[in-house]
Formats: sequence, structure tokens, C-alpha cells
Amino acid sequence: MKAAVVTKESNGKVEIKDLDLRPLEAGEALVDVEYCGVCHTDLHVAHGDFGEVPGRVIGHEGIGNIKEVAPDVKNLKVGDRVSIAWFFEGCGTCEYCTTGRETFCRDVKNAGFSVDGAMAEQCIVKANYAVKVPEGLDPAQASSISCAGVTCYKAIKVSDVKPGQWIAIYGIGGLGNLAIQYAKNVFNAKVIAVDINDDKLAFAKELGADLVCNPLTVGDAGQWIQEQVGGAHAAVVTAVSKVAFNQAVNSVRAAAKVVAVGLPPETMDLEIVKTVLDGIQIVGSLVGTRKDLEEAFQFGAEGKVVPVVETRCLHEVNDIFEEMEQGKIKGRMVVDLKKK
Ligand SMILES: [Zn+2]
Ligand SMILES: [Zn+2]
Repeated sequence: MKAAVVTKESNGKVEIKDLDLRPLEAGEALVDVEYCGVCHTDLHVAHGDFGEVPGRVIGHEGIGNIKEVAPDVKNLKVGDRVSIAWFFEGCGTCEYCTTGRETFCRDVKNAGFSVDGAMAEQCIVKANYAVKVPEGLDPAQASSISCAGVTCYKAIKVSDVKPGQWIAIYGIGGLGNLAIQYAKNVFNAKVIAVDINDDKLAFAKELGADLVCNPLTVGDAGQWIQEQVGGAHAAVVTAVSKVAFNQAVNSVRAAAKVVAVGLPPETMDLEIVKTVLDGIQIVGSLVGTRKDLEEAFQFGAEGKVVPVVETRCLHEVNDIFEEMEQGKIKGRMVVDLKKK
């Protein structure tokens, strides 16, 4: 079977190779992959940014059908459609795994990084960790929900925003557009979309954002949001920008949460007085648990959240990486493993 693997040099590229999979072990299932999305994280893996993994099959936004299960597997059967996500497997017994915070397991395995992933015609999954994709959800769209979608859904959950309250979403890219949809259509919040690109803000409006804000036009987004609505009740920052993080803290009202999702390699400035006197909470959020993904999929199946996807071929992964580095990509690039 064909797979996209990290090169020997970890130079930000993949090679398409013919690989043979080992036989299944207890607790495992074999998946015929239908679709796998290409994510910025894959590009980091290919560059060796999290540690070099030459020969590793990339891909953590996989969707496919179960072809075979090990004899002891009871929760999946042949033909089931499942996902292969970044959170591939936890240890199952640590303080995080046993308290609903499994994505923070210190012994976590990540698909397409610490174990072979789903950018391949077939892959092996742990049956207990493969989340089923509900009927009625398009598998290419499901691929996008398995990473970007669940990340946004979880971040908004963590923000504790209530129906009718204001939430500011910083960064309206691949994550932010899904965050708007979850915030509006699932959490019933009022959304302020913040981005420095007017095209993205126009898209945010189409998706139902109540207010849009371009800091290049209005100046400090934090101050503008304070003037417009008296401060947001919560903020989710998907932008890869320190400025966005700082403005997000200034845009919220007292007792609000600022949820950090984007990963700029910088530190943020935090005014201690405001943080203390206003009781501001700043919290990171990382992908989502199996349960979060099940819920995020269900809202997709109900049509409340519709990812924008474009399908490509396996041999185009390096081209997609290049387009990504040049910032040319709109929506989500998803490899159709059946497409030649
Ligand atoms: Zn991803
Ligand atoms: Zn654990």
C-alpha cells in the first residue's frame, strides 16, 4: 500500500512509498483510509520541529472503513467508518486519562508523529481509540472535524461561554471559520470575528458572525470590543500571533476566560493588575478527547457545522505543503486516497 513518509533528511517533504503493514495485534483494527486532511502540524512533523521522525507515515486527520479487527475487538466491526486523529492513544490509567483529560496524558501517542498515521491507503488503529463517524456526515468533511473542528469545539467548551453571551474569535483561518460555526450554531453565542484580512472577515459574516473587527482598521481590537459590547465574555485565539493574544486579553470583561489555541513561538505580555483585579483566566486547550470528537462529529452530521474542503491526490502532498508555506490555502486540503 502507498503511504506518505517523512524523508531521511526531515527536510519538510514526504516521499510516497510502498509499505507493507505488520499483522494486527490484540486490540487493533485495520482501516482502509478514504480521506486524510493535510494540516500545518504535518508540515512541522516533516520538518522535524517536534523531533525528527524519518520514515514515519504522516497524517492525523484520517477517515476510513474498518477492513479487519483483531479477534478480541468488540467495539468495532468490519465496515464501520472511523477517524484516525492526532490523539491516537493514551495510557488509559494515569490521572489525566482517568479524569476526562486524556489529551494531556504524558504517555500519549500521536498519529503521524509517534506512531504511523493515516496519510496512506491503509493504517492500523487501536480499536478503543478510533472514534466512529456518524451516518450522514460526509467523510471528507469529517476529516476536517477530526482535527480543526474538534479543536475549536473543545476550545469553546473550555471557554464556558453561555447562550447569548459574546465570544471573540481571533484568527479566521482553517480553525477560526469552524470556531464561528460551533460558537453560533451549537453554543448559541454571539460572535465577534477578528482578523487582519478583510476577505476572511467577509467569510466570517457569511458564516453568521455578529460583529467583525480588523485591527488594521480599528486599531486595538481589545479596546474596540470593549467599546462595542462592554467586553467579550470569552475569547478563543486561533491566530498564530502574539499581538492577537495580547489584544484578546484586553477584549474580555471581568471573570472571562481567554482560551489559547494558536501556537506562535513567542511569549505573551500579561498585565498582572488586570489579570488579578478582573479575575481573568488564561487557559490552553489541546485538540479534544474521544468524547469531544464524537460530539463534534454529531454536530457536523446535523449540518450545524460545514467545513470547507478541497480534495487532492496522495502524490500532491508536497505541493500542498508548499502552498501552505506560501499562505495560499483557503479551506482545508484533504487527500482522497482513492483518487489517482
Ligand atoms: Zn491537524
Ligand atoms: Zn494517560
